[in-house]
Amino acid sequence: METIEHWIDGTTTAGTGDRTAPVYDPAAGTVQARVRLAAPSDVDTAVASAKAAFESWRELSLSRRTEILFRFRELLAAHTDELAGIITDEHGKTLDDARGEVARGREVVDFACGTPHLLKGAYSDQVSGGVDAWSLRQPLGVCAGITPFNFPAMVPLWMHPIAIATGNTFVLKPSERDPSAALLLARLWQRAGLPDGVFTVLHGDAVAVDALLDHPDVAAVSFVGSTPIARHVYQRGTAAGKRVQALGGAKNHAVVLPDADLADAARQITGAAYGSAGQRCMAISAVVAVGDTADELVAALAEQARSVRVGPGRDPDTELGPVITAQAAERIAGHVERAAAQGATLVVDRREVPGDGFFVGPCLLDHVQPDHEVYRSEVFGPVLVVLRAGSLDEAIALVNANPYGNGAALFTGSGATARRFQREVTAGMVGINVPIPVPMAYHSFGGWKDSLFGDTHVHGTEGVHFYTRAKAVTARWPESTTAPQYHFPTT
Ligand code: NAD
Repeated sequence: METIEHWIDGTTTAGTGDRTAPVYDPAAGTVQARVRLAAPSDVDTAVASAKAAFESWRELSLSRRTEILFRFRELLAAHTDELAGIITDEHGKTLDDARGEVARGREVVDFACGTPHLLKGAYSDQVSGGVDAWSLRQPLGVCAGITPFNFPAMVPLWMHPIAIATGNTFVLKPSERDPSAALLLARLWQRAGLPDGVFTVLHGDAVAVDALLDHPDVAAVSFVGSTPIARHVYQRGTAAGKRVQALGGAKNHAVVLPDADLADAARQITGAAYGSAGQRCMAISAVVAVGDTADELVAALAEQARSVRVGPGRDPDTELGPVITAQAAERIAGHVERAAAQGATLVVDRREVPGDGFFVGPCLLDHVQPDHEVYRSEVFGPVLVVLRAGSLDEAIALVNANPYGNGAALFTGSGATARRFQREVTAGMVGINVPIPVPMAYHSFGGWKDSLFGDTHVHGTEGVHFYTRAKAVTARWPESTTAPQYHFPTT
């Protein structure tokens, strides 16, 4: 059986770690490969390589760096299907969905190709007699990225193209559940002409993550994953003096008002709840039905949920693939079981799916209460819960009381109501009649509250800001000798 190895210094290497983890084929329920898990000494090797590469990478001209980014962008486009196939085989999502993930990731590379424009800085002429001042942003050094299983290509692409374009080197620790997409990215970078050591893939688990967080030569850490691990990464990384952005879990609400097009809302919400088997950080997992919409909306959602086609991700008819592991399937089914026991109405129950894969079909729960476990937890599976609210005020209060604040969507026919919602809701990304409001690469992605630790979102100008630090220069080229000044300089 194949062992998936690290990518350090432009080549695959087993390193020194003797531990491995299984990589499943979730559609078949079998182990298809094993992945190497880095030991702390492998982290040292990877970071040393990235540190050495930084010295020459930061010196390379912006034009040369940009040429490499453009070439990588073309290679990524040309290899979309190959990358999508790898994602489907290890993650389980449909091929169409995997292609969409690659396309959204590539948009960040498009953005990163324009980085020179964003590094121009600002210049002030004659701030004092014969004195000019300017500010610029410079790279940090070795940056690390720790990413989740649910977007094995897109989430790494949120981070490293911008880090690399701004002159840093990058060590990626992808999810050990679907590690192969990162390796294809590494090979494409190499073909694009990226010098060895600028992009590293280090496979591993908590041991590798903690070693990266403690490593004195890692300047910044970008993390995306569940909230408890995001909190840990933020606390440990910042305690070690690093710049950290740690994106956590989510409970994304869709509020549906009586003036919405209910049939359209039901279709949109169904796709957003069950696409990728609900394993998206922007999946809609809670619907808040306002006023007298609930019964009609639940009936429409139920009809949709019953018609979703469940199957292997490589089958072109499939709309909902397997979840990532047998444990995940068990956890999701347990949530549904306990919600029903707590008093929720189980309207659609498609937990049982024939076959050996890790399948859970769409489930719909009505009359869920804010204190039910299924509402308080991030289920991260194809389970949609419906809560009922008497008014928009009540709905906004419910969304805002939730500890997560990644995305929130409103379905309405009123611009004034939409404006109020988008201003008052405490979530980082808001959709108006759009169920999954994932920002474009030139805007920034990130949540509020327990969905983000740190103050900087990923990609867009916030990404450029995160991977660079400011320097302000004040310069004078004296034409004649001036007397020393003993007061604090003023203009
Ligand atoms: P996870 O938190 O289990 O793992 C994320 C990363 O952390 C992986 O690389 C993993 O190896 C590492 N890790 C796991 N346990 C660790 C530990 N104890 N110490 C240090 N590192 C550890 O998340 P996951 O199951 O891979 O991904 C799903 C989660 O990611 C969901 O909660 C989802 O909402 C979240 N997510 C959030 C966003 C966002 O933008 N906010 C995007 C995608 C996914």
